[in-house]
Amino acid sequence: MGVGKIKNFNVECFISHLRSLTCSLPIPAALSIIDSFGRDPFLILISCILSLRTRDTISFPASMRLFSHARTPQDILKIPSSLLEKLIFPVGFYKQKTLHIKEICIVLLKKYKGLVPSDQKKLLGLKGVGLKTAHLVLGLGFGIPALCVDTHVHRISNELGLVDTKTADETEAALQKVIPQKYWIEFNTLLVMWGQNMCPAHVKKCKGCRLQKICLRNNERESF
Ligand code: SF4
Repeated sequence: MGVGKIKNFNVECFISHLRSLTCSLPIPAALSIIDSFGRDPFLILISCILSLRTRDTISFPASMRLFSHARTPQDILKIPSSLLEKLIFPVGFYKQKTLHIKEICIVLLKKYKGLVPSDQKKLLGLKGVGLKTAHLVLGLGFGIPALCVDTHVHRISNELGLVDTKTADETEAALQKVIPQKYWIEFNTLLVMWGQNMCPAHVKKCKGCRLQKICLRNNERESF
């Protein structure tokens, strides 16, 4: 288990191929948040919390509703919890996420002058923040190379044989050996776009897929 068995893998070709395949697809929610409000690590952090175990189609409108009311820890703490719950409903675990968001805002104000820390250990110390969220904030919020392995990155990296892993943490460790650091941030964006639009988990569109030649789903796949 670990690095997959893809033959003669040329990462530069792979990334440039994926770029051209995804250039006209809708961008992930986190990038839409940046387009709407600028590169704000706090908004990326909160929108990522809302997206946990929730589809972007649900969590993105919820983020936009919340951010139309408040975009700073101070302002979010002024929102009564009952209203915060209503604003983010129907994201999964909206009651728990309301508690986590309030607690995160309190900690940011108490320990970090209201700013999101650009440090993995400190991010992981925030309520409800795991590696996936921490790495998305580091990458998209601060431009610090970090591999954000969400469900799409984990699943498609295995489908394509880039890795051979069972968990997202294993995938991250294996991908670090396959994908050069300069692509870590972009790799998440490309695979999320591909996963959400062209290779969803439950409805495969393998017939005619432009990655079929290198995908393990194709028994006669070629090297890349
Ligand atoms: S061939 Fe199927 S499983 Fe493989 S990338 Fe394409 S859609 Fe996904």
